[in-house]
This record gives sequence, C-alpha cells and structure tokens, in this order.
Amino acid sequence: MTDKGEDMIQLEKCGKNKLKRFFDRQLEQWPDVKTRFQKLAVVQVRDINCGTNTVKVQFNPARMVSTGARIDKQSLGKRPCFLCEKNRPEAQISKFIDGQFELLINPFPILPMHFTIPAHRHQPQHIYENYGEIHRILTEFDNIIVFYNGPKCGASAPDHLHFQGGTSGILPLQTSWQRLSANAETIVAISDEEYITAIRDFVCPAFCIHSRTEKSDVTLFQMLYAVLPKLENYTEPMMNIVSCVPMGISSRWFSHVGNIGLPATML
Ligand SMILES: [Zn+2]
Repeated sequence: MTDKGEDMIQLEKCGKNKLKRFFDRQLEQWPDVKTRFQKLAVVQVRDINCGTNTVKVQFNPARMVSTGARIDKQSLGKRPCFLCEKNRPEAQISKFIDGQFELLINPFPILPMHFTIPAHRHQPQHIYENYGEIHRILTEFDNIIVFYNGPKCGASAPDHLHFQGGTSGILPLQTSWQRLSANAETIVAISDEEYITAIRDFVCPAFCIHSRTEKSDVTLFQMLYAVLPKLENYTEPMMNIVSCVPMGISSRWFSHVGNIGLPATML
C-alpha cells in the first residue's frame, strides 16, 4: 500500500469516528431519543416492487410528529421553529459545520445514524445558493449520505434551511446503483470524469451528477437547475437530492437529483 493510501484511510477513520463520537455522546444525554433509535431496529419495513425497482416502505409511528407536521404558511407562522437554536430541547447538542450550519441528531430517525443539518440562521429552504454545502459536508465526514428535501417535497421545516445526513449504503437507490448506473445516459459533460447522467429506469425522473471538485459539482448542478421545470408560485423546481461518495472512491461525489416530490426515504 502506498503512503497516500494509508493517509486516506487515516483521514476516513478520523471523519467516521468524529461523527460516531458525537452521535454516542448525544444519545447518552437524551434517553428518549436513544430509545427511538433502538426501536428503529424493530420498525416494520416492507419491500414493494415497482417495475424493475424495489421501494422500501417503513411503518414508523414515531415519525408522525415530523412527517405529519402542518407546513402551510399559517401553521408555520404560529409554531416555534424547532430548528432554531432558541427553541431546541435543552438536551439537544450541536456541532458547527463550516461556520454556517450545525450538526444535530435527528430526534425522529429513519436511519441507524440520522442527523439534521440546519443553517444557524433562520432562512427559507432553498437549494440554489446552498448546494455546495452538501459537498463540504461530505468532505468533512466520511461514509455518510447527505440529502435535501425541497420545500414542497417532504421538508417538514420549509421555513428553515436544512439538510439531513446519515448512514450510507442502505437506501435502495444505493443498493441498486450498479443496475441503475449501467442504464444511465450521459446528457452533459464538462470533462471526462465530471458529467450528468439521466437515470432512465428509476421510480421517478432522476439525474446523477458525477463530480470531483466542489466547483464542478456546483457548476453541473446549476446547469441542471436551470432546465428543471418550476411551477408558478414555487420558489424552486421540485426536487430531492441524495449525495454520497461511493465506497472505495475517495474523491468522487455522486449527487442523485430526483425532480419530482417524492419523500427522500423512497430514494
Ligand atoms: Zn428556524
């Protein structure tokens, strides 16, 4: 093994341990949430076949608090924003990322490790100027996925900019990736290794951004954003995003962008 390879492994271990330590520390201080994470192991999951795809449906009553939250303007105006620091439970700890975002444990998890990553400042959910943050989070923490739900696509706090992060490698989108990528078609490229593909046989229209640097990741995303349809009175095209660094490839980011409003759990 080369020195470079060993360095890379050390870096990866470092990122992973940092997250795990934070996660464990939080659960020790917040017994209710620790119980919810433990109960995840016995949540009922059913696989449903949709053509060549399998969709996982999770029966998780504890999630009703967040998935059933009213997100109309009036309801949002009345409730204290649960992502703002001043309204968070006392037991919830946070860790700053990049000076503008905070890492929190998601108290209503769907993944074995599940984080919420809100902006420190209360501001609407909007991806265009904030997409690069996904890349930076994946740079800082190894072996996680980062995802984004658009304000009309499943976000339970569309009034407060946030991402989510969690255990990588278990979403059907990832476990089916070999088959999905084999049938993907390149639609635009800025270099041999940085391009967008259209995924033809997924459960929803989806695109994949392959990038090596934050700059090219953002450039490709902006190209895609510019051509996605935006409905009247909507603040952005409807989309969910799932991003990860594939196993064993340490400098290549994949961002999967589904352009209809499906819950991220289906991606
Ligand atoms: Zn807020």
